[in-house]
Amino acid sequence: MTAAAETRKFEAEVAQVLHLVTHSLYSHKEIFLRELISNASDACDKLRFEALGKPELLSGDSELRIDISVDKDARTLTIRDSGIGMSRDDVIANIGTIASSGTRKFLEALSAEQKADANLIGQFGVGFYSAFVVADKVTLVTRRAGPATSEGVRWESSGTGEYTLENVDAPRGTSVTLHLKADEDEFLQAWQLRSLIARYSDHIGFPIRMPKEDKDGKPTDEWEVVNQASALWTRPKNELKDEDYQGFYKHIAHDYNDALAWTHNRVEGNQNFTSLLYIPSKSPFDFIGGSRDERKGLKLYVKRVFIMDAAEELLPAYLRFVRGVVDSDDLPLNVSREILQQNRNLEKLKSAVTRRVLDLLDRLAKDEPEKFATFWQEFGTVFKEGVAEDFANKERIAKLLRFASTQSDGAAQTVSLDDYIGRLKAGQESIYYLTADGYAAAKGSPQLEALKAHGVEVLLMYERIDEWMSSYLNEYAGKKLRNVAKGDLDLGKLGGVDAEKRKEAEQAAEGVVKKLKELLGERVRDVRVSERLTDSPSCLVLDEHDMGLAMQRLLKQAGHDVPASKPTLEINPAHALVRRFENESDTARATDLGLLLLEQAQLLEGAALEDPAAYVRRVNGLLAS
Ligand code: ADP
Ligand code: MG
Repeated sequence: MTAAAETRKFEAEVAQVLHLVTHSLYSHKEIFLRELISNASDACDKLRFEALGKPELLSGDSELRIDISVDKDARTLTIRDSGIGMSRDDVIANIGTIASSGTRKFLEALSAEQKADANLIGQFGVGFYSAFVVADKVTLVTRRAGPATSEGVRWESSGTGEYTLENVDAPRGTSVTLHLKADEDEFLQAWQLRSLIARYSDHIGFPIRMPKEDKDGKPTDEWEVVNQASALWTRPKNELKDEDYQGFYKHIAHDYNDALAWTHNRVEGNQNFTSLLYIPSKSPFDFIGGSRDERKGLKLYVKRVFIMDAAEELLPAYLRFVRGVVDSDDLPLNVSREILQQNRNLEKLKSAVTRRVLDLLDRLAKDEPEKFATFWQEFGTVFKEGVAEDFANKERIAKLLRFASTQSDGAAQTVSLDDYIGRLKAGQESIYYLTADGYAAAKGSPQLEALKAHGVEVLLMYERIDEWMSSYLNEYAGKKLRNVAKGDLDLGKLGGVDAEKRKEAEQAAEGVVKKLKELLGERVRDVRVSERLTDSPSCLVLDEHDMGLAMQRLLKQAGHDVPASKPTLEINPAHALVRRFENESDTARATDLGLLLLEQAQLLEGAALEDPAAYVRRVNGLLAS
């Protein structure tokens, strides 16, 4: 063996990176451990792959593993793997120079950040240098897998422009020894290392071992595995029991309830990934009211290495209740959020994951209606956002929607659009729905009277989001969705009053309509005879393309300018109150009656009256007279 050590200079860019790493990274220092374990795991992966063709590479030591140990006296921490190792040239090429184009970006990002975060380092393919965040000297000893006669190399540097290289005897694989900086003693604590491993590297597919401790907490010569060493989602489905899935769910979701359902898939083809996706059985406290940014639902792994919580990148917002893991073979390992968002594979991955969730929901709807009902109760409100958000899957999403209706029991949302279509009346071409501020307001709305009288079912939408959602839901299975409070209802085809009869009724009511129009003036767009009403005196109706009244109110409350679209007042000329107004000769009392017809219709819409006191005075006056 050559005894003389060679001293070499780092490539200029490396020196720059090292300088920044040693002087600028203060937060998330512990990241170095993840980076070094991830390199060790890569090295094991590479050897495992090469050994497929050359099994002799594994001879002498066939176990691929990562050992972590500390020497408290020497104040060193060593990460050792039995992976592929490096030749002398490999070391110079991989550690002394930086091939990756990420370097410049890293330098830019780091110089731009005021309080630089060590998390950055792994994102640019320069993870090895993170060792210098906590160490003032790093010794790497390595030997490339191959004939036992091949030489090992010892590389050492204090991260200041130079490194030394020396040929040495070494076992196969690589060991990286960190000589910790004076104030980095925490990384000499075994429990601290174990908890970091559990946090970042639990599901690395190779055993990570640490020395077993005796009763006094002193390390012994025996090793014990400190990670799970096999990622649950990589195990074949038929080996996994429900308990395994539930246990894993609780671990990743931090939920003590069981999951409602899950879907576990390995996809191979032009995208290779495994996904394990869960639907919780209960929505977390204040989930719906909570911020849309609160989306820590999915973990992204690349080749079993945890990369980040990346719910946002992997799932559309309307599926933010989903929990689980996506493990991609195609994304780069050291990927930042920014780089990730620009990756074209990501969009494909996202739509594939979305499809898996929709498949699971389809299956529940079909085969496990009780579970589906639980899902709908917990997350239906959030899921509805999908109608507006996910154009590509709109039809599938619409199929999964559930509503209350004039023919279902109470406020529970149980009717699907397919159920509705199955009950269409002869001659009925549209799906009718009504939006209101609450279930009772919807159920009791006068807008429903004529439809009810004709036995036509109406979907009752009474959640805050419904008005907005329904504006995106114009059609399903070739049927138009129609808001019963808007435009013409076309009841003729449904056995309602035909056009001729209607004309007659309108002519008969010309007088009262004119009288009301004069009285209400600018307050309404128009006054006309209603085909909607049978029992009530009046209601408000919008034009087909007007924004719903509840929506207008919501936007106004949020401080938006809303184009004023005035509603039309429809009246029922047969109603006693309308007749009384028509026949009232006392002008003051006629005014009271006329305003009442408008105000009552406004109240039914859920609107606040402009002048409630005046309204009460009017009602009282009429009651007392
Ligand atoms: P990356 O892992 O993104 O390539 P790193 O800075 O972490 O970037 O590592 C640089 C290179 O050094 C790796 O690509 C690999 O070739 C080599 N390397 C680092 N650690 C090891 C190891 N434990 N065993 C073998 N090669 C290693
Ligand atoms: Mg690395």
